[in-house]
Amino acid sequence: MFVEVAVNIPSNRTFTYAVPAESRGDVAVGKRVLVPFGKRSLTGYVIGIRRSTDRTDTRDIVRVLDREPLFHDEDLRFYRWAAEYYFTPLGRALGEILPGGIDIESLLWAVKLGDADDLTALQQDILESLGRRPSGMPLRTLEKELGKKTLLAELRKLEKRGLICLEERMRKPVVKGKREKIVTLLGPPADSIKLTDRQGLVITAVRARGGEARVADLAEIADPLPVLKALGKKGLVRLSEAETLRAPGTPGTIGRADILVRLNPEQEIALGRILKGISSGVFSPCLLHGVTGSGKTEVYIHAITETLRQGGRAIYLVPEIALTPQLISRLANRFPPEEIAVLHSGIGPAVRYDQWRKIKRGEAKIVVGARSAVFAPVDNLRLIIIDEEHDSSYKQDERMPYNARDLAVVRAKQQGAAVVLGSATPGLQSFYNTREKEFVYLALTKRVEEREFPRVEIVDMKNERDPDGRIRPLSRLLVEQIGRTLEAKKQSLLFLNRRGFNTYHYCGDCTHVFRCLNCAVSLTHHLSEGALRCHYCDFSIKAPPLCPECGGSRILSYGLGTEKLASEIGSLYPQARITRMDSDTTSARGSHERILRALGQGEIDILVGTQMITKGHDFPNVTLVGVISADTTLNMPDFRAAERTFQLLTQVSGRSGRGETPGTVVIQTLNPGHYAIQRTREHDFAGFYDDEIALRKDLGYPPFSRMISLLVSGTGKEQVEKGAARFGQRAGRIAAGADFKGRLTVIGPIEAPLARVRGRYRWQLLVRGKQVRALHAFVRQVVEGADIPGCEIRVDVDPVNFM
Ligand code: ADP
Ligand code: ZN
Repeated sequence: MFVEVAVNIPSNRTFTYAVPAESRGDVAVGKRVLVPFGKRSLTGYVIGIRRSTDRTDTRDIVRVLDREPLFHDEDLRFYRWAAEYYFTPLGRALGEILPGGIDIESLLWAVKLGDADDLTALQQDILESLGRRPSGMPLRTLEKELGKKTLLAELRKLEKRGLICLEERMRKPVVKGKREKIVTLLGPPADSIKLTDRQGLVITAVRARGGEARVADLAEIADPLPVLKALGKKGLVRLSEAETLRAPGTPGTIGRADILVRLNPEQEIALGRILKGISSGVFSPCLLHGVTGSGKTEVYIHAITETLRQGGRAIYLVPEIALTPQLISRLANRFPPEEIAVLHSGIGPAVRYDQWRKIKRGEAKIVVGARSAVFAPVDNLRLIIIDEEHDSSYKQDERMPYNARDLAVVRAKQQGAAVVLGSATPGLQSFYNTREKEFVYLALTKRVEEREFPRVEIVDMKNERDPDGRIRPLSRLLVEQIGRTLEAKKQSLLFLNRRGFNTYHYCGDCTHVFRCLNCAVSLTHHLSEGALRCHYCDFSIKAPPLCPECGGSRILSYGLGTEKLASEIGSLYPQARITRMDSDTTSARGSHERILRALGQGEIDILVGTQMITKGHDFPNVTLVGVISADTTLNMPDFRAAERTFQLLTQVSGRSGRGETPGTVVIQTLNPGHYAIQRTREHDFAGFYDDEIALRKDLGYPPFSRMISLLVSGTGKEQVEKGAARFGQRAGRIAAGADFKGRLTVIGPIEAPLARVRGRYRWQLLVRGKQVRALHAFVRQVVEGADIPGCEIRVDVDPVNFM
């Protein structure tokens, strides 16, 4: 018997191992196995089982690691598709997809035994390094320390001479299953057996729980374990262990309390179509287009209810971790909490591992999570919901770059399931699919209870200067509106997209700008720490009192961060309770929830924040939303800049006036006439779509084409420049060949807008064409066999981020 194993290495190969007799009953697709790999042992994933192999050199697996498989065959089919589509080796992809911290691997360790005089310089260095660690060190650490690629040959020589020894040591997994003690009653006590009072109490307590209980649950008895052991000796109870699955803490109620509702006619129509899809057992994609507050979530909940009633399972994706607590508290009101599993990167690896297995075992029926939950090993999957489907957080850029929204559609297709994409501002792509493809378009046009749309005011910031000609951060209108809202005892949200790195420090005399040494991006001033920090890497310096260029002391800052904005408003309205919500104030676990709960309970008058505050929250007392600058997104070097701006402005506007009082939105901009801003004011999605789709068509951008981006990066400036040029020539040559001529275009290489990130220089190549197959074949050919020393090539299919 043989198994096909994928290991987490940067190669597309998988490997065949023999299964020794004692493990045969135990291996299965979806389990992890420890396998010998080169000189060490690694964790691999079993992806196939076969009777025979042509190979004669197969080695045995060391052992099977899992009691139960981590995924089904059906899941594997989906994982393979994703890995291939996004140019990620299967082993790498599985490493990304499966819960982390559970793998075992061995490392080769070297320990110093002695010294000699006739050694090479390198050998001396090795012994000196090892001499400092009497218990030895892993080969990899030694190689890193000495800056060598491989030292194995050298170490073998030293081993032969008896100066060192090499041994394989296991590195333990970080995460293990959690076990707990269970007590079971063994028949009623015979009269002849005398019990102490405490023993009697324990017996009664266990009997009250049906004769079996978790020891941890016997709260009425202090320190029950010794008593239980004594009872065990008398043969009255049995103590055993069972595994428990850890779960993230259930959040309290956030926002308004949930009540059962009757769907309105539009919701009924939408639900009817979705249910038809669920029952049909064939792929049924829908786009649910409903303004914020129109009751989409209510439709999802009804659709899930019906899915479960039919014995199916559902996955519910939200774009950000910040949204899950609110959603879970809402779902837990409608479904048994133990049937809900949660998966996202914000929960610790131990809980994640347990939630994963709970899903795999079929104990969880609803999986809620951020983008990674699209991979959950859900059996009998009948419904996938993607809320805020337009959100770019569904796209992952690091490691395995994938788009969870697109993958959800693929998965639904593979499984014949229904998929509902919901949004107040559908992505252009999805809306286009309802016009040109099989997507069903469902609309919720009214806000629940016919609430009015907020009034949107646009402020031209060119008219908002101070006497020195500098543009003020807050327009007169916005200041006045904040004051009114405070007076009315309502709440304001002020949105500032600082990610456009518009806050920088410069010298007032020579205009020297403080930039990050690694990333060539301006540094952001963090007042509370007195530091200038780079938002792309961890670089930070103390805010200098003098300019390093000219020695001048007039250090000025341009633009505005959330921190400065909050303090500025604080000085205008000293009595207001102001809170800031951005990645600085929400790095601690649970801090999102805390801020949102405070807002829900009316403990905050003004919430100042980044992107984070624009999404999904439902707070009826918020009646003013201010957008400090609509221009940061509008000016991004990205063909989706207008789409993003429209979506962002519409979403953020939707936060205003969700209760009884109609809301107001103030948008500050230097481009008041831009169609993305005008259409926001008119609440006109269809109009925006028509404007934008015409432009895309003219320029041949998606959805009229597909794109793959290739990023060449490395630490040597010239090496990368030359490498990118060479790579570009190679791409050009292949594109002009018979296979691809006329089927695609190659743009670049050009320097990336973020030309340097974390010390790496970056150049981009964009490939564009109509057929995704041709693009894939082309990229495969260009990347395989490309020889550009000192450079790494990253492939990003359907890229979202062009920075
Ligand atoms: P969305 O997801 O579109 O933003 P929600 O489903 O969260 O909208 O609905 C907004 C609010 O309206 C929620 O408080 C919800 O409980 C309530 N709601 C939704 N549908 C109805 C309905 N048919 N009747 C009354 N209230 C409703
Ligand atoms: Zn940096």
